[in-house]
Amino acid sequence: MGIKYQLPAWLQRIYPGAIWRGDTTRKVVYLTFDDGPVPEVTPALLDILEKEKVHATFFMVADNVTKYPQIYHRVVANGHKVGNHTYHHIKGTKYKLADYIADVKKADVILGGTKLFRPPYGRILPKQIFALRSMGYKIILWDVLTHDYDKNYSADEMAKIVKRYVRNGSIITFHDSIKSNERMLAAVPQVIRELRNDGYTFETL
Ligand SMILES: [Zn+2]
Repeated sequence: MGIKYQLPAWLQRIYPGAIWRGDTTRKVVYLTFDDGPVPEVTPALLDILEKEKVHATFFMVADNVTKYPQIYHRVVANGHKVGNHTYHHIKGTKYKLADYIADVKKADVILGGTKLFRPPYGRILPKQIFALRSMGYKIILWDVLTHDYDKNYSADEMAKIVKRYVRNGSIITFHDSIKSNERMLAAVPQVIRELRNDGYTFETL
């Protein structure tokens, strides 16, 4: 059952050289938010992070950035880090290498040259990973998946998942999307509070 929330090391090997955790020597965690920016969610999320004084990493869909550039600029101005999540939120397993790389490059023009990359849906082929790594990208996966996009998970349940699976250097994934919206926005302050109580600090990737 845990595999839904944290991939075991043997399964991580299908992603050669990908990063699942940051600094494992300290009680530090990395909050990450995928799929934004969107006006219905991102500004409210930024308010929460500002209030909590937490910096996070946003894996953005470049198509959304072109629609909402002012939100992108606020994310950057607030001190958060931006990562590439492709231009069209595409599944690597459905694309030829050249087409996949072209989409990432198109996104790169919009996203200001970030070298952090997270494959949408976690679907990426080893040859795509090798190509992106040779271009200087760090392939960032996650250590804890909150399932915030699934309406069957309440904020309380997400906080429980994080509490149970978090460890030094955990990269924790949420979604900055309409699908996750209220449940994610309710879970984030709760998760931050509980992690702080357990002695964790928050950093960007
Ligand atoms: Zn995504």
